[in-house]
This record gives sequence, structure tokens and C-alpha cells, in this order.
Amino acid sequence: MTPPPSIALRRGDAGPAVAAVCERLVLTGDLPGGAGHADRHGDPIFDERVEQAVKSFQQRRGLLVDGVVGRHTYAVLDGARWTLGDRVLRYIPEYFVEGDDVVTLQSRLAELGFTPGKVDGIHGPATDAAVRAFQAALGLESDGTVGPETMRAFAGLRRSVVGGSASALRERETIRRSGYSLSGRTVVLDPGHGGTDHGARGHLGLEEARLALDLARRIEGRLSAHGVSVVFTHTEVTDGGTDEERAAFANSCDADLVLSLHTDHSQTGSAHGAATYFYGAGDHAGWSSIGEHFADLLLREVVARTGLTDCRTHARTWPLLRRTRMPAVRLDVGYLSHEGDAAALANPQTLDHVAEAVVVALQRVYLGEADTSRTGMLRLDDLRRHLASMQGVGAGER
Ligand SMILES: [Zn+2]
Repeated sequence: MTPPPSIALRRGDAGPAVAAVCERLVLTGDLPGGAGHADRHGDPIFDERVEQAVKSFQQRRGLLVDGVVGRHTYAVLDGARWTLGDRVLRYIPEYFVEGDDVVTLQSRLAELGFTPGKVDGIHGPATDAAVRAFQAALGLESDGTVGPETMRAFAGLRRSVVGGSASALRERETIRRSGYSLSGRTVVLDPGHGGTDHGARGHLGLEEARLALDLARRIEGRLSAHGVSVVFTHTEVTDGGTDEERAAFANSCDADLVLSLHTDHSQTGSAHGAATYFYGAGDHAGWSSIGEHFADLLLREVVARTGLTDCRTHARTWPLLRRTRMPAVRLDVGYLSHEGDAAALANPQTLDHVAEAVVVALQRVYLGEADTSRTGMLRLDDLRRHLASMQGVGAGER
């Protein structure tokens, strides 16, 4: 039925174009089926009955109710029979494709954080750009063609993802594809400072760089036991370099996650507690939702296990968080300038608790979105049981 007729159809007209209009009106339920008036060629006549049907269709669609099928009414009427997936959609500069399937496409893109422009059912340049961005985000060929492959991607995402930004979508999709297990993942541990930079010094002779490295080793041992490849940004003798260099290194490892370990220090001596940081720039265009999720879980597990004060999770744009392609989180575990925190951190058991918190938080991230409700002192055994049941569910999806 495309391209549309060059002239408007109105009461009294007849011919194949009127026949096509009647056919669509029957499909939309506006025109009762069965024989209407026909001309001597057997084509239906645009009679009062058809006019009423056109008016009721226009009414429902918010069009100008004039009973005349002009270009716009024709396009909307033609588009009404399409549901997303019926046909291949693409941007055609000379003639924008219109239809209910385009409305669905646009709403879904908008829902996923892409910006298709106004949800108007017209496949224009903004919709095209959003489709290409969506394809690129999922690693599909970014050709703007909404064919079977892109449709499948939509179908796979619909269930689990509502809202969020493109990068959030990408992160979640990566995790969904890679499954629920920790095994086979690569985690970059970044002990803060190092080399000639000792970081903060505090009570009981504690030194940030040494403490961070000690903690990193304890985390490494536990993660390795779960089949995770652990990579350090530096050792005790090497210098980790600037945050930019550490981020570049993590990117070169193609890691699943980066965890940077620090302790805090303040002049007053009264500040205390633990905090986590993830990448976030205030709007959802730059926001790591997995980073936020992990940062939140990690802090809750750390606080529950160590008794350190909860200093909250914060969005930051520090280079290590911003320049890493994978979710990156920084943990500041206690103030060396605070007597109570320092005493806790001087106890190796505290570092073991923190290390276990890291493993549990990581496990929880890879359990997926549905599991965010229960947090606190979840033990590894509970998680393994839960993971086993999740893997039973997940196996059929992969
Ligand atoms: Zn530091």
C-alpha cells in the first residue's frame, strides 16, 4: 500500500486505492466486513459508511477528524496493521516508514535509554541513530536495519531490562551473556599507591600502600579459589603509575571488573568509616549501574562484617573509574587517622573479613538483578546453594 496516493480520498471516490483503505479499516475494526457499495468495476465506493469508519479511526488516533484520507491519515492507517517484527524496518531518507511497529520500536529504544526522538511512529533520522546506537551497544552490525537479529536482541532484553542508560544496558547484557558464575572471569585488583608512594600513614605504624597490597593478596587467594583470574596493577616493588595508566592497564587485560583499594586519612582524627565509589556523572548518560550495584553491595558486606561505619556509596568521575571500559569500584576501607579504624585494620582478621566481603559482593553482582533484596551477612555457602539453583535456571537460556 506504499507509496501513498498523491491525492486525498474522500466521499464519492472509488477505485483500487479506496479498496485498499477499506481493507485496512476492516483490519483495524473500524469498518464492518462484508460488501459495501461497489462501482461498475466491482471496486468499493467511498460512501457514508466508509467515511464514518475513517472518522472513527481518526478519532482513536488523535488525527484531525474530517473523514478524508489524506497523506497523513493514509500513512497512519497503513501503519496500523504492523506489529514489531512483521517487517524489516530501516530508515529511508526519501520516504519515512511509518507504522505501529515503529511506535513500538521507538518506545522500546526509549525505555532502554536510547533517544529515538519523539515516539510518533515515523522512522526518521533520530530513530535511525538510536537503532544504530542500540546495535553498536550489543555488538551487532550497526547498519540501522531492524531485522531478525536486532529483533532477537530486543526479545532477549525485554525480560530483564527496563530503563537505564545505554552503558548500563551494555554492562547488564555482558553479564547476562556471560552467565552467573565467577569462574573464568578476570578481575583487576588495584592496590592504591605503591612504589615510592606510600599513601597515608596513621596510627600503629599503619601505611596505606602496604595495607592495600596485603588486602589485595587476601582477596586474590579467595577469588582464585573461585576460578577468577586476578591481575594486579602493580606489586610491592613496582609502581602502579597514575590512575590513567592503571585504567589503561585494566583495559588491556579486558577485565570484567576493577577494584581499587585504599584507606582514608583526615586531619581531624575523628573521621572514620568505609566508603565505596563508582563511575557516575550525575546524569544517566554517564553512569555505571553495575559499578553502582557492586559498590553498594560491597560496602554493605564490608560494614556488616567489620563493624566499620557506613560512609555510603558515591558517584565520582575519577580517572580510574571513568577511563576503565569495565565497571570499576574503589573501596576506601577505614581511616588510618582514626584510632578505632586503625586498630581494626591492624587486625589481620579484619582484612580477611573485607576480602570475604569482596567475594560475596562479586558473587551477588553476577547473580543478576532479581537478587538485590537480601543483603548483609550472607555466607558463601548460602551463595553457592543459590548459585547452583540459578545455574539450573540459567542453563536453558544460554
Ligand atoms: Zn589512597
